[in-house]
Amino acid sequence: MAGEPQADCLFCKIVAGEVPATVVRETETTVAFRDINPQAPTHVLVIPKVHHPDAASLAAAEPQIAADILREAGHVAADEGVDASGYRVVFNTGSGAGQTVFHAHAHVLGGRGLNWPPG
Ligand code: 5GP
Repeated sequence: MAGEPQADCLFCKIVAGEVPATVVRETETTVAFRDINPQAPTHVLVIPKVHHPDAASLAAAEPQIAADILREAGHVAADEGVDASGYRVVFNTGSGAGQTVFHAHAHVLGGRGLNWPPG
């Protein structure tokens, strides 16, 4: 069922504490933790505790939690001190865009210059 934990989902396991992660923030609806393969000095993933395969399906089913993700991304940027210099919030959606974990997540990237357009 939409939103229910999935047994084969890595990020559901991180939410459940079954896979360790370096958690930097947590709310009733979200968890933020450091990416295992950082692409910038700050690279934090913000995920909903509920399972939806991507950001669009999360926003369609539970728009308040999608808003929580965006608010938390801003808090992460402030906590990490990258809000003044600029940072990027990315939702890779679909394998063609580089999505590899099919549990909705925002990447918060900062602490270095970020080119546009992205690769
Ligand atoms: P995507 O490619 O789906 O947009 O992003 C998935 C992200 O999850 C990647 O940046 C990848 O490095 C990260 N990741 C994959 N496995 C783990 C893990 O076990 N722990 C953490 N903290 N990050 C992971």
